[in-house]
Amino acid sequence: MTVVTRFAPSPTGSLHIGGARTALFNLLYARHAGGRFLLRIEDTDRERSTAAAVQAIFDGLNWLGVTPDAEPVFQHTRAERHREVVMQLLARGRAYRDYMTVEELEAERERARAEGRAIRSVWRDRTAEPGDNRPHVIRFKGPLQGETVVQDLVKGPVVFRNIELDDLVLLRSDGAPTYNLAVVVDDHDMGVTHVIRGDDHLNNAARQSLIYQALDWPVPAFAHIPLIHGPDGAKLSKRHGAQAVSEFADMGYLPEAMRNYLARLGWGHGDDELFTDEQAIAWFDVADVVKAPARLDWAKLNFVNQQYIRAADDDRLAGMALKVHRDRGVLITRSGEARLRAAVPIVKEGAQTILQLGDLTLFTLKERPVGVDEKTAQLLTEETRARLDRLRIRLAEAADWTPPALEAELRAFAESEGVGLGKIGPALRGCLSGGAPAPDLAGTLTALGRDESLGRLADALSPVG
Ligand code: GLU
Repeated sequence: MTVVTRFAPSPTGSLHIGGARTALFNLLYARHAGGRFLLRIEDTDRERSTAAAVQAIFDGLNWLGVTPDAEPVFQHTRAERHREVVMQLLARGRAYRDYMTVEELEAERERARAEGRAIRSVWRDRTAEPGDNRPHVIRFKGPLQGETVVQDLVKGPVVFRNIELDDLVLLRSDGAPTYNLAVVVDDHDMGVTHVIRGDDHLNNAARQSLIYQALDWPVPAFAHIPLIHGPDGAKLSKRHGAQAVSEFADMGYLPEAMRNYLARLGWGHGDDELFTDEQAIAWFDVADVVKAPARLDWAKLNFVNQQYIRAADDDRLAGMALKVHRDRGVLITRSGEARLRAAVPIVKEGAQTILQLGDLTLFTLKERPVGVDEKTAQLLTEETRARLDRLRIRLAEAADWTPPALEAELRAFAESEGVGLGKIGPALRGCLSGGAPAPDLAGTLTALGRDESLGRLADALSPVG
């Protein structure tokens, strides 16, 4: 049997990280089993589905690198097929036309509530006169006895009493198929063997199992994964901060870090916090997903992201940092860009997000004269100015403009002046960075290069500087 999984989002908003994780688990499981991962856009509800939301799903999955193995299926294009299957169910006596009026349905709902059972239409056992054209829905004719057991790969066996499952509508009065019917038909036709989705769909699994059985179709394996909760344990919501995948992208998380972190939400391989995609595929089994809801942990996400930033290609990071600056409206000259590129390998260690990488590289983009901040201005006493000027002359002659050589040079200079580096460092940094965050002195000098460093220093020390 070839494993086929699918992600089946409804395009009604943005792609949330919960959905992204569901997609990722489906992808990992399919890859692990040597199978296929499919995407189905559940746009049957034409009023709530929007083109922008469909695009957000594509963009989000693309960004995350969780892409399907075939063209996506658009559920609304399959309505004819859905109706055809409903007709099969009617022919099998497993569905019925229900002519209840809104008032009758309301009355039945009241009765059912009072009797503690699911609603049943009087039309279950009644057939309309031929040619009856009154509006009606078509309902599934569910069993009144027995139990339906969902053998869930995460939850274990979950037992539903059939009497408690109502005869769900398969086709609305306007001929539109409903969610539970469309899902079954599409999953069957797409050859889906494993339905991995959020556990808010567990109840649907029972209803869907009954439809499969009524059609004599094999029931797929189900795996209902707990939802993602906020750091406080409550269901993830706006007040916990970002939810949409696009927001995480904008906040400067790398897609590979996000994949690693999301895989770790509710699943894990021992204590391994960091792993490659290949390792995740080799290790992942949906049966190992934990039963308790996973909590979003920002500190852990930042830690993971920082590790991936450290490992990331410097040119790629520079491109991302430049984009941050462009978006912030920072002027970027050619020489500024060159300085930024030189700074990336020096400062990237300290960045937890790409936005932080932006903050940490801002000093490189400043153009002369960069000016000094107030703190630095206060440090620039007559004595310090004279000292920094002597340093400037010395650095102009430095043979080697590399971090270890510059460090040695600074140390030797401080010694020759009879002061500690603490007397020189803060003022020097301020002159070089214009008050923006900057790495250690040797790193700052290296990133800026000799000419720019000495120029900035001269500017700061000049009478008008
Ligand atoms: N379209 C459903 C949703 O977005 C998921 C259906 C499914 O995975 O079976 O919640």
